[in-house]
Amino acid sequence: MKNVKTMKSMQQHQGVIYRVAGPAAVAKGMAARMYDVVRVGKERLMGEVIRIDGDLVTVQVYEDTSGIRPGEPVENTGEQLSVELGPGLLTSIYDGIQRPLSVLRKQMGDFISRGVNAPGLDRAKKWHFKAAAKKGDAVSVGSVLGEVEETKGFIHRILVPAGMSGAVRDIASGDFTVEEAICTLDNGSTIAMLQRWPVRKPRSAKEKRAPDTPLVTGQRVFDVLFPLAKGGTAAIPGPFGAGKTVSQQQLAKWCDADVIVYVGCGERGNEMTEVLTEFPELKDPRTGLPLMNRTVLIANTSNMPVAAREASVYTGVTIAEYFRDMGYHVALMADSTSRWAEAMREISSRLEEMPGEEGYPAYLATRLAEFYERAGPTTNHNGSAGSLTIIGAVSPPGGDFSEPVTQNTLRVTKTFWALDAKLAQRRHFPSINWLTSYSLYLDALEPWFAKHVAGEWRVLVNRLMGYLQEEEKLLEIVQLVGSDALPEKQQLVLEVSRVIREFLLQQNAFHEVDTFCPPRKSYLMIKAVLRYADLAEQALAQGARIRPLLEVRAKDRIGEAKFEKEFERLLGELQQEMEGEFERLVRGTGGGSPAPESRQGGERK
Ligand code: ADP
Repeated sequence: MKNVKTMKSMQQHQGVIYRVAGPAAVAKGMAARMYDVVRVGKERLMGEVIRIDGDLVTVQVYEDTSGIRPGEPVENTGEQLSVELGPGLLTSIYDGIQRPLSVLRKQMGDFISRGVNAPGLDRAKKWHFKAAAKKGDAVSVGSVLGEVEETKGFIHRILVPAGMSGAVRDIASGDFTVEEAICTLDNGSTIAMLQRWPVRKPRSAKEKRAPDTPLVTGQRVFDVLFPLAKGGTAAIPGPFGAGKTVSQQQLAKWCDADVIVYVGCGERGNEMTEVLTEFPELKDPRTGLPLMNRTVLIANTSNMPVAAREASVYTGVTIAEYFRDMGYHVALMADSTSRWAEAMREISSRLEEMPGEEGYPAYLATRLAEFYERAGPTTNHNGSAGSLTIIGAVSPPGGDFSEPVTQNTLRVTKTFWALDAKLAQRRHFPSINWLTSYSLYLDALEPWFAKHVAGEWRVLVNRLMGYLQEEEKLLEIVQLVGSDALPEKQQLVLEVSRVIREFLLQQNAFHEVDTFCPPRKSYLMIKAVLRYADLAEQALAQGARIRPLLEVRAKDRIGEAKFEKEFERLLGELQQEMEGEFERLVRGTGGGSPAPESRQGGERK
């Protein structure tokens, strides 16, 4: 009797291929639930159930389906697509379904053949586990059982997995593989360092908090004008040649996140090759060690089928949440989410679903929103504070931001860093367009900047933006009549704006000092520029001519602070010099009593 039952359930878990259409296969005669993981064909390619229609089950296949035929077997594993979590994630480079590329390469050379199983975490490696919990401790989800030094100086905390709780019966420090039990609870259940988590299900935290701390990037244009919060979301378009790679690497290297997860969905083969060769070479400026020591890379190379992009995005975000749960600040970069959306479109069209805008499925907006919603600062179950920041690149065809992927992304992300190919051509780097970019975190982050940098931070930032916006209007006039025809006050606005652009917004990623600018340095540089603006405005009001004001030497030297480690000293000296220069200028005009219409300008401070 028992045998018959097993036979029957076995039959239900087995079906046959009925039809194959690109990355989608339809199976018949197999019981399934949505998102069950399925093995397709004789080669047992990995796929996931994405539609159930009576007896027909549609599977999106994460490996190349060419040569697979109707009639071949399909087996439902009954499991959900999951990632392996535990020590060994950092430094890894995975494909979309968390197979380590190094293992795949060893097994099959550079071309990834099909149906290969390679576990995400090394089964043989022993890790030194240092117990933190003791016998008798009451533990529940998220409690810290102990820690492993995963890479030099990086502490990987081993947490109690979801669904387990009780008193510790047995725990000891020692060397363990990820599968060996490190702890036994009083109910007899054992816990190993390896955990699994279904990728489509967000890992829970005790509480999501409101963002109130910036993700400091050390890049002036980001931190000053368009700050991103820890736990916030940002979109960055990446037109070709706009300096996207350098910007991303700068963010990965310098932002004050503890862990970086980079998900690459490349279209052209070389896009991913660049990442795969360059990322492992990057040095962590904090430690001098490889940045990979606190990075996980997930890469879809161009020889991988489109469906795997979908998996890679979820794999990445789940790994990121796992580190967040330990109390870390994690930054996830997904590049490019447009490729993921294109994969959705392709699969949706194979399924003959009703197309939405530009052929993208109607659920595009929901998928994108659900993905970005996994970001946030959290209070974790163990009381620690963590955050997951998501930075998604979009690649709108022809740079047209009105297309659906960009639009739906902008609807859910709160910072927009508009990389601009035209600025890059003019060698203005980072080529972030200051007029079209924005951050909706300015208000939320104002108290942080006021407390940690300067009370007047926001006022100064607003003044910078004010100048840049006014410059834009004036430039239209200048194009018609030339700048000399402008009133002197407006000529001054143009000069201040130029200084803001060249000294503050431009930053050289390759200069050893300028590559990172702490907020305090940004603040002092802004102060210096605006001090010039105020003094020059006053001088104009007192009858000085514009020409010598534009030639103030100390102003031209503010830019030197970028390359100067001892910027406080330099900027202090320049300030004095500048005051002296202005005094002489004003004295030279015989001025001293401000002209009536400009009193306001002089009294601003
Ligand atoms: P993309 O990835 O958009 O094609 P890259 O990031 O490779 O472009 O940038 C192209 C070139 O622009 C770089 O090789 C570098 O010379 C220059 N560049 C980009 N960003 C910066 C920067 N922040 N500082 C200095 N140079 C930069």
